[in-house]
Amino acid sequence: MDQSQRNAVIQYKPLLRASAYIDGAWMDASDGKAIDVTDPFTGGLISTIPSLSQAQVQAAINAAERAFPAWSRQPARERGKVLRRLLDLILRHRDDLARLITLENGKPLKEAYGEVDYGAGFVEVYAEEATRALGEIIPAPVPGRKLYAEKEALGVCAAITPWNFPLAMLTRKFAPALAAGCTMVAKPASQTPLAALALAQLAEEAGVPPGVFSVVTGRASMIGDLFTRSPVVRKISFTGSTEIGVQLMAASAPTVKRLSMELGGNAPMLIFDDADLGTAVDAAMVAKFRNCGQSCIAANRIYVQKGIHDAFTKTFAQRVAAMKLGDGLEADTDIGPLIDEAAVAKVNEHLGEALAGGGQVLAGGRGEGRMAPPTLVTGVRADALLTREETFGPLAGIIAFERYDEAIRLANDTPFGLASYVCATNVETIHKASRDIESGMVGVNTGLISTPYAPFGGVKLSGIGKEGSAHGLDEYLNLKYVCHAGL
Ligand code: ADP
Repeated sequence: MDQSQRNAVIQYKPLLRASAYIDGAWMDASDGKAIDVTDPFTGGLISTIPSLSQAQVQAAINAAERAFPAWSRQPARERGKVLRRLLDLILRHRDDLARLITLENGKPLKEAYGEVDYGAGFVEVYAEEATRALGEIIPAPVPGRKLYAEKEALGVCAAITPWNFPLAMLTRKFAPALAAGCTMVAKPASQTPLAALALAQLAEEAGVPPGVFSVVTGRASMIGDLFTRSPVVRKISFTGSTEIGVQLMAASAPTVKRLSMELGGNAPMLIFDDADLGTAVDAAMVAKFRNCGQSCIAANRIYVQKGIHDAFTKTFAQRVAAMKLGDGLEADTDIGPLIDEAAVAKVNEHLGEALAGGGQVLAGGRGEGRMAPPTLVTGVRADALLTREETFGPLAGIIAFERYDEAIRLANDTPFGLASYVCATNVETIHKASRDIESGMVGVNTGLISTPYAPFGGVKLSGIGKEGSAHGLDEYLNLKYVCHAGL
């Protein structure tokens, strides 16, 4: 397939956009500047998107401000209905959206379908949660008074999203924001802006009013500056690196914004001697290789207790070696290209360093270009680079351990704390480890923990705030207290 044939897999053409969406209108950059969006498998051009001017991004913020009063005053049920219509449209265009995600991100089609369903799940959950933003009536401490607290929408919110889950990382911000009555300006990653623009198209079709949701594209630092400096923007929800998240937090301080930060992870997986072997291997496969390892909750370090170590690595190696590396658009591909060549270089660097430290390759090997094979290396030192930095690729490193305390110490020896995984059957071990590991989320006997129904978020340098569940709605609400005297 040449690139034009690859691009033609999107059947409903309005989903493949080359403009930004501001205040209900599709527009190019005022000075004509554009950014190429390329297919990570071929390097070919999928589309170009505008590199907007500052004035255009400001226009999106202004439009969100104008749209806020009417949108926030609509009954929650009506906002929920709009989200429900959007959910129907997402599901109707499920095939195209999955193919679009694979085209711009490279991930295998079956995972892109998983992302569409996961992303749609946030729209479904918040279409319902919209009506459940309940307040409180507080027993008055003195006679003649009525005290109550009610939840109100924050106002204009900004979203900045990464390239690894181009649709789902946006719907988990967009859906609760709109459900709460907020308006939103979103900036997707420049590598993968097309799913966000497709969402804007479907939001328009679903009846989201102009200005309530805009998607701006262009220079990240300029857009980030405008978002953080603007007194109108009351909240920023960011998913991306800790480095940029910290910059955004600092820049948001003068305007005292609400912040949700979903930042880097360095998830440990602890496999104890009493773990069920099949369960542990399944958990490791998905926790490590989902999205080609390009996930902030990917198991970055796999600690395996001595008694189960050899059996685990043998079975795991067979499964890793059987994975198919290739074109994400092909139905049986398990691992597609990584997002860019720098991503592969990082995986190679981590692999090289682990091998220099005495590690042994049991499956896979070095990557080339944008393709990195699924790789398993054992005998990794506890201080190896791959245990300290997020690899963000399909490289699994096994570190052997002997005692429970040692495993917990190693697991917590990181400034990050997003997800962690525990495989064991002994209930005491499971409860103790879930308690002792410093992380926002723990997967027990599973590597797949993400769902729109649960609160996702980290501790330490992995961030603040929750996405998903009713807690994710609260991130877009202010609890206003009213004290009514003289009754
Ligand atoms: P990643 O490693 O996922 O690319 P980044 O933190 O660099 O992590 O990017 C996540 C998102 O943040 C992307 O949308 C990117 O364009 C955006 N971004 C990068 N630099 C800045 C910045 N200085 N201000 C605001 N957003 C930024």
